[in-house]
Amino acid sequence: MLGLMQDRPLLISSLLDHAARNHAGSRIVSARPDGSLVRHSWPEIAARAAQLAHALAARGVQRGERIATLAWNEHHHLEAYYGISAMGAVLHTVNPRLFPGQIAFILADAEDTHLLVDPTLLAGAAALADQLPPSLRAIIVMGSEADIPADCPLRGRFELLAQESLIAGQPTQFDWPELDERSASSLCYTSGTTGEPKGVLYSHRSTVIHAISTLQKDCFAIGAADVVMPVVPMFHVNAWGIPYSAAAAGASLVLPGAKLDPASLHRLIEEEGVTFSAGVPTIWTALLNWLRAEPGRRFAAPPRLVVGGTALPTAINAGFLKEYGVSILHAWGMTEISPLGTTNARKPENAGWDEDRFLDYARKQGRPLFGVELRIRDGAGAEIPHDGTAFGELEVRGPWAAAAYFNRPGDAAFTADGWFRTGDVVTMDELGCIEIVDRAKDVIKSGGEWISSITLENLIMGHPAVQEAAVIAMAHPKWDERPLLLVQPKPGMAPTAEEILAYYEGKVAKWWIPDAVEFVESLPHTATGKLWKADLKTRYKGRVAG
Ligand code: AMP
Repeated sequence: MLGLMQDRPLLISSLLDHAARNHAGSRIVSARPDGSLVRHSWPEIAARAAQLAHALAARGVQRGERIATLAWNEHHHLEAYYGISAMGAVLHTVNPRLFPGQIAFILADAEDTHLLVDPTLLAGAAALADQLPPSLRAIIVMGSEADIPADCPLRGRFELLAQESLIAGQPTQFDWPELDERSASSLCYTSGTTGEPKGVLYSHRSTVIHAISTLQKDCFAIGAADVVMPVVPMFHVNAWGIPYSAAAAGASLVLPGAKLDPASLHRLIEEEGVTFSAGVPTIWTALLNWLRAEPGRRFAAPPRLVVGGTALPTAINAGFLKEYGVSILHAWGMTEISPLGTTNARKPENAGWDEDRFLDYARKQGRPLFGVELRIRDGAGAEIPHDGTAFGELEVRGPWAAAAYFNRPGDAAFTADGWFRTGDVVTMDELGCIEIVDRAKDVIKSGGEWISSITLENLIMGHPAVQEAAVIAMAHPKWDERPLLLVQPKPGMAPTAEEILAYYEGKVAKWWIPDAVEFVESLPHTATGKLWKADLKTRYKGRVAG
């Protein structure tokens, strides 16, 4: 017997309609490159999204057609998020920090027909002109005619349009189509630290369910009175779905643009009354260091933060909480899972813990949100015990996890029984909380046992002379692989290798302690700000442990 409930599809247009209809008092604030702010309301964003959709429809854009964006967090991008998906086309967000060759590959793989570009990124797009795919019919600059320089090299080669002129005079209402909720809504490529980037094709259904789920108390916990600032970029993993969840909540949005330095972020938090923000640890580390260097600066009302993308260093978490009253929730996710998978919010079992014990525990990535199923299997395919020590590869299943990559049938990341293999190596403890101990390709396999490079990196970050560190494997004649520690010292500091290694004593098993330390001026990072281990491995390829 079927239930007798209305079968309304879960559509991205419904998020926008909801926010515009019910939350006209919330604001969307965008920071311009010169630091000035532009303000809109949800109804105004909805009207401008409708105008963009009309303009694209007039250009013949069809359902399922991919429209790319190369842009920061600001209102034109938000309008593209809604206008493109809601009309039935596919929003393809492209990470401007990728290498030019990767951007060209991604645009060709997606067969984008239009590319929307932020004016500040136009020169970068122009440099790519020779590599842009033949599918591309037009480039739309996300601004006015004045934002397109007269000598722009793209002139004459592509149809070059300004978004403001394109939408001017278009109707501000769009009768959004009632799509199949499983229709593709947006496309985002993985960072591609090894091999070619792979496209994840989200659906309206997966996006809406993810958005609603992230609102819950043990995740974003945002409502209409919140002022939400996604620092995590809209060009990568949909800014953790915040453009959608903020609309579902009716919250205000503060979109910080390209300037993510601590002073700019702090100013936005204070002036706009930001109550909630999300970003990677690098952003918050920089903000904490900046605050400490400016003794008078505080938060009038400390915002709540959600941090993920790489592991949250305990020192940052403790510093924000104890010195500035800012509480941080550690979250884990991936492009392939929309991206939120787990958060480390408290459970009843943590109730009697003192602050320091929980701060230490918060280094773990957390437990699954409702809807996310986790399975952890060792190299032989057996599920590992949930004892907080045994490692295995994490697999995920759920309504907002990918079932396949775009254009790549049969990828080995998807198991025959319907799970996605994350490539993250994790433990799970008795409370069901996972801790990433490594990427499957980065663990150091020493004499058949695994050493977690990430554990060694996190520990050494607590050494007062260490700015950043990376641990990679070097070949060893007897043990196959042994850890090599690369350390970037803090400015003006010159620790010795002995001092650094002594820091590990008593903190890890003796055989985990790296065999050698190299001091470096800086460490390479990927386009999404993660340590670029593949590059380090190439650089230190010939290095053999003695
Ligand atoms: P991306 O698809 O670019 O968002 O990268 C996803 C990967 O980032 C995951 O597979 C993890 O390896 C890593 N990651 C995400 N969140 C965390 C976290 N909280 N701690 C450690 N690694 C993380």
